[in-house]
Amino acid sequence: MKAFENFEVWFITGAQLLYGGDAVIAVDSHSNEMVKGLNESGNLPVKIVYKGTVNSSKEVTEAFKNANNDGKCIGVITWMHTFSPAKMWIHGLQEFRKPLMHLHTQFNKEIPWETMDMDFMNLNQSAHGDREFGHITARMRKPRKVVVGYWSDKYTQDKIAVWMRVAAAWTDAQDMLIIRLGDQMNNVAVTDGDKVEAEMRLGYHVDYCPIAELVVIQEKVTADEVNVLMNEYENLYEFAPECKTGGSKRGQVEKAARIEIALRKLLKAKGAKAFTTNFDDLENVDQIPGLASQRLMAEGYGFGAEGDWKTAALYRTMWFMSKGMPKGCSFLEDYTLNFAEGNSSILQAHMLEVCPLIAAEDKPKMDVFPLGIGGKNDPARLIFTSKTGPGVAATIVDMGNRFRMIVNKVDCIKPQPLPKLPVASALWIPRPNFEIGAGAWILAGGTHHTSFSYDLTVEYLEDYAEIAGIELLVIDENTTMSEFKKEMKMNEVYYMLNKALL
Ligand code: MN
Repeated sequence: MKAFENFEVWFITGAQLLYGGDAVIAVDSHSNEMVKGLNESGNLPVKIVYKGTVNSSKEVTEAFKNANNDGKCIGVITWMHTFSPAKMWIHGLQEFRKPLMHLHTQFNKEIPWETMDMDFMNLNQSAHGDREFGHITARMRKPRKVVVGYWSDKYTQDKIAVWMRVAAAWTDAQDMLIIRLGDQMNNVAVTDGDKVEAEMRLGYHVDYCPIAELVVIQEKVTADEVNVLMNEYENLYEFAPECKTGGSKRGQVEKAARIEIALRKLLKAKGAKAFTTNFDDLENVDQIPGLASQRLMAEGYGFGAEGDWKTAALYRTMWFMSKGMPKGCSFLEDYTLNFAEGNSSILQAHMLEVCPLIAAEDKPKMDVFPLGIGGKNDPARLIFTSKTGPGVAATIVDMGNRFRMIVNKVDCIKPQPLPKLPVASALWIPRPNFEIGAGAWILAGGTHHTSFSYDLTVEYLEDYAEIAGIELLVIDENTTMSEFKKEMKMNEVYYMLNKALL
């Protein structure tokens, strides 16, 4: 079973008729065998469909137009089996609007030194054919991923798999509706941005939804529905004694369940893939929907607190990319610093809204405590600590003339217990270390909210930024402040000129 059952990636082989019909037949049979081998490897999350060889401008253009119009096709892999004169690719590439991957491989693995003749050569020409194709995609400034490696090697297949997951998430984002229950938190700059540009550039649509719509649905939720969900909670979580039947906090958990049911219904009715809340705008909702946000995130709904629609969308995208992967992802906020010489770290948490997919515990704790902000009743929440290990924290900010994605590699470490801070949390050290990691992030204008994943690597987000055509800044073990500053300055010029030239 593939992680993305309804999607396909198309495989198009470049060739030409110079070497005669027999060569084209051989090219076709090699391509078939390669695609079969890739599909049967068990390493690819999306099925590849071989779409034949293209031998002329007309065929290339036809193939890309079909790919554009096919709802299942999330992207195209091209491979130049023979030398495929690249002018014939121009019109097709001009038409093509989906993610593109250029695979530089060869059907035959090793040179058969003893027997190689000109006929063999004519059928193993990727070495120069792929360079010709590379030139035209470079000349046209076509966003793409180039994967180099022998097609049946796991290394190569893993690279293809990364791009496939990214292409799937890109497709998912193209009709992503994000509903905002309330606006941004007043006066906050970094979580705001240009929603029109976001729809043009990143595909997603951001709509306002009055909290009153949630209230109407909430009032129609039945006691039976609440009981069913309470049973589910009790199976999944470790209930604090006061939250159990007859306990003093039981009623607040039931109210949280009612809000969760209503919110899920609202999201389904709207066809939304992500949502934001605002603690300041909760008219007639008993408590901040913290528990609901935690659990909806685990189901794949994007979430951003305080109206943060960009992080909500990015979370959905990162959840989608990592479907079926083991360690999980979450919305997080830089909460509090822990200075410790040479080993300083940042506590990651939020008022309540941390996704239980990243929990170290099998059974997070369910409890209810007051929340000093928002002026509502005591909210229920899941309490846990995160797994340890490496991950990536990412954000997208609006720089006025472009979107900038910032990605920081971080290492989650084991925190001390927090008996007086009953929220879910993680504790991490940014790479290359706290001082440079946090310093570079701040210089780049990164948010205090992030979308975090254990399963994804920088490569996924790099592929995503390439497809979207947005700026990418990576902070990792190789980052130095002086180089990072230079990169930002060069990017400033690049994006200014880019608008003027293209
Ligand atoms: Mn926040």
